[in-house]
Amino acid sequence: MKDDQCIFCKIANGEIPSRTIYEDEHFRVILDNGPATDGHALVLPKDHYRDLFEMPEDLAAQAMKTAKKTAELLKEKLHADGLNLVQNNGEVAGQTVPHFHIHLIPRYKNDGQTIAWNATHPDDAQLDAVLDKVTK
Ligand code: AMP
Ligand code: ZN
Repeated sequence: MKDDQCIFCKIANGEIPSRTIYEDEHFRVILDNGPATDGHALVLPKDHYRDLFEMPEDLAAQAMKTAKKTAELLKEKLHADGLNLVQNNGEVAGQTVPHFHIHLIPRYKNDGQTIAWNATHPDDAQLDAVLDKVTK
């Protein structure tokens, strides 16, 4: 399943050139062209799924295996001190390209980047209310 209008479908399937660091039957891993740090890469499935919710479970599991393999490659080759995995689903969550992807963001001491959210401070009752919603 490809989407003719989707740039990541075209990149993943080699119709648009990309800086590919890994490729197999189901995935292509490319360098992000607006990187947060050196080596910022994207795991792209070759089939079109908008987000995690549309991904079949098996393919999602394979995407994580691919992320691990390429994270190890990036860490070793670029001597990263750490690495963030980021995966956005939906505009409200910061997704700008509606084709599932996992960001691999190698981190270096003093790289000046922050991948952050603002912690809130719910009380016990508020946390319990959420737990109830999710589990009951
Ligand atoms: P997200 O905001 O999670 O949807 O991430 C989309 C990412 O895709 C951003 O980090 C962009 O820099 C990156 N991106 C968009 N177009 C291209 C492209 N043609 N080649 C490489 N990376 C891209
Ligand atoms: Zn696509």
